[in-house]
Amino acid sequence: MKGLDWYFKTNLLVRILLGLILGAIAGLIFGPKIVVVSPLGDIFVRLLKMIVMPVVMFTLIVGAASIHPARLGRVGVKALVIYMITTACAVALGLIMGNIFSPGKGLELVGAASAFGKELSQPSLIDTLVNIVPKNPFSAFSSGNILPTIFFCIIFGIGVAFLRESEEERVRDAANTVFKFFEGGAEVMYKVVNWILQYAPIGVFALIAVVFGKQGAEAFGPLGIVTFSVYLALAVHMVLVYGGLLAIFRIHPLQFLTRAKEATITAFVTRSSGGTLPVTLGVARDKMGISRGVYSFTLPLGATINMDGTAIYQGVCAIFVGFAIGSPLTLGQQMTVIMTAVLASIGTAGVPGAGAIMLLMVLNSVGLKVEPGTTVAMAYAMIFGIDALLDMGRTALNVTGDLAVTSCVAKSEKEIDENLWGKDIPAKAVGETA
Ligand code: ASP
Repeated sequence: MKGLDWYFKTNLLVRILLGLILGAIAGLIFGPKIVVVSPLGDIFVRLLKMIVMPVVMFTLIVGAASIHPARLGRVGVKALVIYMITTACAVALGLIMGNIFSPGKGLELVGAASAFGKELSQPSLIDTLVNIVPKNPFSAFSSGNILPTIFFCIIFGIGVAFLRESEEERVRDAANTVFKFFEGGAEVMYKVVNWILQYAPIGVFALIAVVFGKQGAEAFGPLGIVTFSVYLALAVHMVLVYGGLLAIFRIHPLQFLTRAKEATITAFVTRSSGGTLPVTLGVARDKMGISRGVYSFTLPLGATINMDGTAIYQGVCAIFVGFAIGSPLTLGQQMTVIMTAVLASIGTAGVPGAGAIMLLMVLNSVGLKVEPGTTVAMAYAMIFGIDALLDMGRTALNVTGDLAVTSCVAKSEKEIDENLWGKDIPAKAVGETA
C-alpha cells in the first residue's frame, strides 16, 4: 500500500472536499455520460447504510443503559420541543423567502384546468405514532425502520440500566456483561465508520459528478430562483435560528460548524440523514465531546423527525407551485403549509428524495393536487427535476440541525466536555482512536 501513502496521509476533509470539487467539474464537463462512475458512489452509500442500523442499536442501548431513566425522559422532551420549534421556524422562513423572491412568477404553465380541489388530506399522525411501537423489533431492525428500533432499544437499554443497580449480585453481573457487550459493539462500529470514511472521497466524487452531470445546467436555468431561494433560506436558517440557539446555550457557532463539518459534508453528498447517522454520531462523540447518554438518543431521533432543510424547501416550493399555476398561495394557505410540513416531517424517513414525496402531501393540504395533465403536476415535475440538487442542501441542514440541538440539550444537561471545546479540534477523523 506504499503507493497510496499520500492518500491516507492527506487530511480526510481535504480529500473529501477535493472529491466534491473534482466531481462537480467532471459532471459539468462530461454531462450525463458521467453516470459510468455511479457504482463508486453507490458503494459509498451502501457502506454507510450497511452500518446504520448496527450503529444505532449498539450506541442507543449503551446510551440508554448509562443514563438514569428520569433523565432520559427530560433529554427526550427537551430535544423534541426544540426540534419542533426550529422546524416551524424553518417552514416559515421558506415561505418568507418564497414571497420575497416569488419563484415561478410569470411562468404561466398551461395544461388541463389546475386541480384546485377542496380535498384535504392530512398526514395520519395517529398512525405514525402508533407505528413507533414495533410489532416485531427484529423486523423493524432488519427493514431499517428507525423509530420502532429506537423505541425497542431504549426500553432494552433502560432494562439494562435498572438491572445494573440490582441488589442481587448475579443479576448485576449479568447486566454488566450485557452492557459491556454492547459497549464493545459500539466501539467496533466507530472503527468501521472510520474505515468507511477513508473511502468517502472517492464515493463523494462519484455522487456529485452524477448529480452535476445530470442536472448541473438546469440549476442555472429557469429553476435558478428556486435553487437560490432554497439555498439562501438554508443559510439564513443556519445563521439566525441555529446560530441564535447555539449562542443562547453559550456554544460558539463557528466552532460548532467547524466541528460538525464531517457530518455536514457527508449529508450533503449522500442526501440521507439516516445514511449519515454513523458519521453524525461519531462527530458528537469525538469532535464535540457530548456524552453518549444524550447523543445516542437525540441524534437517531433527529435524523428521522428533525428536518429543517426539508421544511424550508417545502415552504419555497409551495410558493413556487402557487405562482407557477397563476394562483399565489393566500396567507391562510401558507399557515396550513406550516402546520402540515411540521407534522409531516415527523413521519418522513431520512432518505434521499423523501422531502419531494412529502411535498405532495403538503401541496395536497392546500388543495393543490398533483394529477396527470394539470399545471400543478407540471410545476411539481419541474422541481422534481432538480430535486437532487435541492436535497443536498436541505439534508446538510437537517443533519447539522440535529447536531446543533443535540449540543444545546447536552450543554443544558452538563453532558458536554467543555474542556474539549477550548482545545484545537482533534485532527483525527471520526472513530479514529489512538
Ligand atoms: N434527504 C433528506 C434527509 O435525509 C430528506 C428529504 O428528502 O428532504 O434528511
